[in-house]
Amino acid sequence: MKDTSKHQGLRKQLADVLKKKGIIDKQVLKAIKLIPRHLFIDSSFADHAYQDKAFPIAAEQTISQPYTVAFQTQTLSINSGDKILEIGTGSGYQTAILLELGALVYTIERQHELFKKTSLFLPKLGYIPKKFIFGDGYKGLKEKAPFDKIIVTAGAPFVPKPLLSQLRVGGKLLIPVGDEKQVMTLFIRKTSKEFEKHELGDFSFVPMLQEKA
Ligand code: SAH
Repeated sequence: MKDTSKHQGLRKQLADVLKKKGIIDKQVLKAIKLIPRHLFIDSSFADHAYQDKAFPIAAEQTISQPYTVAFQTQTLSINSGDKILEIGTGSGYQTAILLELGALVYTIERQHELFKKTSLFLPKLGYIPKKFIFGDGYKGLKEKAPFDKIIVTAGAPFVPKPLLSQLRVGGKLLIPVGDEKQVMTLFIRKTSKEFEKHELGDFSFVPMLQEKA
């Protein structure tokens, strides 16, 4: 595993590209400049790691586009110490960004190969979530609720009820909702029963899969 000054330079350029696209959170840009994204990607694609593009990882899944990762992180305005549930660990790149910002992260992945791979890989870079969970994100993680923030990194056909109910009052759920394309949707829990909903534009994710009956 190698990081070089060339990679660092490419990351700085990527951060500039994201800034031009509207990412203004300094902590997020700093994390983008710090985290070696090329190590999260199959080495045959490593040359492309610092373009603002999604890429294939194992098991027909993708590492989200850097802009999408930055946008979701910025929208959740992560504070150090925030307790966060992430659905769709994938390559672990989004997880690393959240950890870099000082969050306490519980992350769920349903694909076993990726779960194994990423739970071995992230600690090697010094990124250690509170917990890696192999399981179904539709259920959330009731035993560790409530969460300050919940981030979903796969396209959900509908908003899973357990995720809304596992937010603390004042907490935020950010979830791309839709089948072909998704609308990035932010829910803020106002009271135990009321949620405020904001739609934040179209994005494209791999599907959030449901367990076979
Ligand atoms: N944040 C990741 C995104 C990976 S793509 C990254 O940047 O690398 C979305 C991930 O969600 C895939 O790894 C997929 O296997 C996972 N996923 C899909 N449905 C899921 C579910 N029901 N529960 C948990 N993870 C799920």
